Amino acid sequence: MTDNKQLKSLEDPVDKLKGVGPKKAKALNKLGISTINDLLEYYPIRYEDFSIRGLTMAKDGEKITVKGDIVTEPRAVFYGRHKSRITVKLAINDNEIIELVFFNQPWLKKQLSVGQKLIVYGKWNLSRRSLSVIKTLDNVTDSKFSANYASNKEIKQQTIAQLVKLAFDEYQDVIYSILPNFLIQKYKLMDRKTMIHNLHFPKNQDEVTLAKRTAVFEEFFLFEMRLQMAKAQDKNNHGLVIEYNNEKLKQFISKLPFELTNDQKRVVNEICFDLKRPIHMNRLLQGDVGSGKTIVAAIAMYAAITGGYQAALMAPTEILAEQHAKNLAEIFADCPVNIVLMTGSLKSKIRKNNLLNIKNGEFNLIIGTHALISDDVEYHNLGLVIIDEQHRFGVEQRKALRQKGMNPDILSMTATPIPRTLQITAYGEMDVSLIKHLPAGRKPIQTRWLHHAQTPTAINFILKELAKGRQAFIVTPLIEESETLDVQNAIAVYEKIKTDFAPKFKVGLLHGRMKDDEKSAVMQDFKKQKYDVLVSTTVIEVGIDIPNASVMLILDADRFGLSQLHQLRGRIGRGEYNSTCIVVADPKTQYGIKRMETIVKVSDGFTLAQKDLELRGPGDVLGTKQTGVPDFKIGDPVKQINILQIAQQEAISLINQPGWEKQPENRELVGYENYLLKKHSMID
Ligand code: ADP
Ligand code: MG
Repeated sequence: MTDNKQLKSLEDPVDKLKGVGPKKAKALNKLGISTINDLLEYYPIRYEDFSIRGLTMAKDGEKITVKGDIVTEPRAVFYGRHKSRITVKLAINDNEIIELVFFNQPWLKKQLSVGQKLIVYGKWNLSRRSLSVIKTLDNVTDSKFSANYASNKEIKQQTIAQLVKLAFDEYQDVIYSILPNFLIQKYKLMDRKTMIHNLHFPKNQDEVTLAKRTAVFEEFFLFEMRLQMAKAQDKNNHGLVIEYNNEKLKQFISKLPFELTNDQKRVVNEICFDLKRPIHMNRLLQGDVGSGKTIVAAIAMYAAITGGYQAALMAPTEILAEQHAKNLAEIFADCPVNIVLMTGSLKSKIRKNNLLNIKNGEFNLIIGTHALISDDVEYHNLGLVIIDEQHRFGVEQRKALRQKGMNPDILSMTATPIPRTLQITAYGEMDVSLIKHLPAGRKPIQTRWLHHAQTPTAINFILKELAKGRQAFIVTPLIEESETLDVQNAIAVYEKIKTDFAPKFKVGLLHGRMKDDEKSAVMQDFKKQKYDVLVSTTVIEVGIDIPNASVMLILDADRFGLSQLHQLRGRIGRGEYNSTCIVVADPKTQYGIKRMETIVKVSDGFTLAQKDLELRGPGDVLGTKQTGVPDFKIGDPVKQINILQIAQQEAISLINQPGWEKQPENRELVGYENYLLKKHSMID
C-alpha cells in the first residue's frame, strides 16, 4: 500500500476530514464547498479584533476590545416591550473612564458589580465615550484577532472555523503556490500557504490586508488564464480568410455622403484586418447611440461580399430588421449587392424562393431576426454575421452555426457602453472595437427631471413642440394597469393623452404584447407622421430612427436603469432639432435621487454605464443572466479593476509564450486550471 500522505490532495472531498459525515458534507456543499481546496478558499467575510487596545486611536463606530474595572453599580433602564439598557462605568486605566452599554440583557443588572474585571468587545461611540457591548470575553486567551465565516442554518460558523483549521493542519504540506514564481516576485505577493494561513488565522488586520492582495491577484489571474485560453482556442478554430477587394471598398467609402469619423476609420481597419486573417473573428463593436455603427457594419459586409462571401445581419426585432433593410438598400443602391429581408410574415411561396436563392448564393446580403440561424436557412457561403443591438452572441449560437458547417466571422454591435470591468470579465472572450466620439455637429439632448406633480409642465412643453411640427415619445414602464404596482401604464396614458390631445394631434400606441407586424405598422405610421405622439413601453428602446421626434417624456423614470434611460433618450436628437428628454420620477431613496441627478448631468453613455455599475453592481446593469460576470470569492472586479487589468495583461503575456504549459514553473498553474475546468466550465 502507498503511504496515505502521498495521496493527499487539495482536490480531496471534504468528507475526508475527521468529523465530516454525509450530513455535514451536504451542508458544506450548499455553501459551495465540496473539496478541501474549496474549504481553504472559503475566506472569512470579516474579522473581529479582540486584542485589547488603548482608546487614543479608536475611531467613532469602530469595533474594539477593552479591558478594565467596573467602578459604578449598574443602572438599568427598561423601555418598550422587552427592551432594556444597562450601563456601568469602566475604568480602563488611572485616567480613563468610559461607559459600557448592554442592550437587552436585563440579567446583567444582578451580575455586574463594582470592582469586577471585564474584557469586552463592542462598538465605540467617540463623542459619548461609550462602548455598546457586542460580546463579553471570558478571559485573556480569548483576546485575539478572529475570523468570521458566512454560515447557514445547517452549519454554524464555529464549525466552519474548526473545519478550516483541521483542513489547514492536515493539508498544509500540499498547499503549493499556483502563481508562477516570477509573478509572486514581481508583485511582491505571498506564497499560497502563507496566504491561506493569514486569511484564516491572522494576528492582525495588516496580515489580512497583505494576504488579500495575493488572494485577489490569484483569483483574477486564474480567471483571466481560463478566459484567454478559451479565446486562444477559439482563434485556433481556423477562421475564414476573406480576401476583400480594397479598391472597391475605398470607392464605396469615398461615395458616402459624409466623411467617416476617425473612430469609424479605426474600427473599420480593425474589422477588415480580422476578416483577412485566418482567425475566427469574434468582435464587439461598441458605440453610443447615434455614433454611426450601421455604416461601419455596412462597410464590413460589403468587404465580405467583395471577397465573394455572403453576409448576414441579425436584428433583435422585425421592425429593426426592416429598417436596416431599407437603409442598406439605399446605402448599396449602386453596388452589386442583392439584399433579401427574411421576416416571419413572408408568404410561404416567397419564403421558399428566398431560401433557395440564399442557398445558391444569388442573395449575398441577408437581413432578418434570429431566425436567420434557424434550421431551414442554408447558406451558400456565409462569411460574416453582424448582430445588431445584442449584448452577446452566445456560445450556443456560435455552436449552431458551426453545426451547419459554417464558421463565419462575427461582429456584434451594441450601444450599451460596457464598462472596463465587464469587458474584461463578461465579454472577455471578445475583442472590442470602440467608437468613442459621435460624428461632429450633433445637437446634445437636454435632459430635465420633474416631479410627478409637475407633469402638466411637461405636457405643455410637448404641445409646444408638436405645434412646431415635431413629434414626441411618451414612455411608461408598464403596458397595462397592475394590481400591485402603482406605476404608469401605456394603455391608460394612451387613452388619456389621446382624449386630451384630440382633435389637433394624433396619438399612437406601441407595446411589447402587440404582434410584430402590428408594431411595425405603428412604427412606420409614426415615421410617416400619421401620429404626432407615440405612447410606448420600452419596445422602442433600440435602433428606431425618427429624426423628427424632438421630445421624449419618460414616466416613472426611476423604474429604469441608467443605461436603459440613456438608450431610450437616444431615440431623440437624431435630426436637426434641439431635443429634450423629460424624466418624471419621485424617487424615495437617496440612491434614487442620485440616479435621477446623474441622468440629467451625464450625457456620455460610458460614464453613465460606469456610474450605473457602481450604484447597482454588475448583475443589474445588464440583467443578471446576461452579465456572465462570475462571482468572485474575494476580488471585486469593479473596485479592483486595476488588479484585474494587470492580471489580464500577465495572463495574455504568459499564454503568448510558446510552450508555457510545459515549463516546470507553471506546473501547478496548469494543474489548477484543469481542476477548475473540471469543476465548472466557465464560458458556456
Ligand atoms: P447607431 O450607432 O446608433 O446605430 P447610426 O449608424 O444609426 O447610429 O447612425 C446615426 C446617424 O448618423 C445616421 O443617420 C448616419 O447616417 C449618420 N452618420 C453615421 N456616420 C456619420 C459620419 N461619419 N458623419 C455624419 N453622419 C454620420
Ligand atoms: Mg444602430
